[in-house]
Amino acid sequence: MHAIAVHGGAGTLPAADLTPAKERAYRDGLERALRAGFGVLDSGGASLDAVVAAVQVLEDDPLFNAGHGAVLAANGQHELDASVMDGRDLRAGAVTGVRHVRSPVVLARLVMDRSPHVMLAGPGAEEFALEQGLVPVPNTHFATERRRLELEQMLAGRAEAGRESLMGTVGAVALDAHGNLAAATSTGGMTGKKWGRVGDSPIIGAGTYAANDCCAVSATGHGEYFIRAAVAHEIASLMRYRGLDVVAAADEVVRGQLVRLGGSGGVIAVGRDGRVALPFNSEGMLRGAMDSRGLLVTGLLQD
Ligand code: ASP
Repeated sequence: MHAIAVHGGAGTLPAADLTPAKERAYRDGLERALRAGFGVLDSGGASLDAVVAAVQVLEDDPLFNAGHGAVLAANGQHELDASVMDGRDLRAGAVTGVRHVRSPVVLARLVMDRSPHVMLAGPGAEEFALEQGLVPVPNTHFATERRRLELEQMLAGRAEAGRESLMGTVGAVALDAHGNLAAATSTGGMTGKKWGRVGDSPIIGAGTYAANDCCAVSATGHGEYFIRAAVAHEIASLMRYRGLDVVAAADEVVRGQLVRLGGSGGVIAVGRDGRVALPFNSEGMLRGAMDSRGLLVTGLLQD
């Protein structure tokens, strides 16, 4: 049994804004990512390679808030966060506030594989990227007109905070045929973020978590709440200590704990049995799942 799930962010996406062409583009992007990751799993590859492959596809797709197409911070820069975790041995890598790394998830994996640390921030992370031979890109590599307008509207006080821009953080979780779980998340964070703000996406246990004894989780939503609820690790704990299955555990955190706290968003999670959970408490979450039993679904709003 092998399975993969991906997300492309959670938030509000008013039905009126969702033209058939836009819906098709989101679904195509999600499906491309699923197929990239599933191809790795199908040929007997590792879940870790599958989640990185899937996230890279979404980072390169300008529709999503990660890599090319990432949202802008208040200073007009793209400041990117990413993380990855290997459920086999709980190794993890993360980067935050990088501005010149084309694929932050690849850098997060390098932190995990080739440094003695778990998380590198800002200039230090960029220095490590250069040492590892990654070719820097100008910050404008990530720019799109849509994100420029979103920031402009937010700074002018015209945007409902985070409207649509919340849609787009990307992530993947997978179970491979060897029983190994892995998770990865990548984001531009939240439009108009200030002062070196770090969200949940690069924080192990908040936005990303994987452990072979229970599940792999990648989150998307209002990061401050996801950090406070330690969302990804909390789901794992409910499975470990209360014996919940992945669907019940993810539901309890996303529709219970997070709602009580006031945090909107969702998660994708996969259990050791290959069951996938895709709960969200926001208006929509771009999501998809594919498994070796023939499942292939993508979704945008509530079903
Ligand atoms: N969770 C991300 C953050 O707070 C944003 C998102 O998922 O859209 O940085």
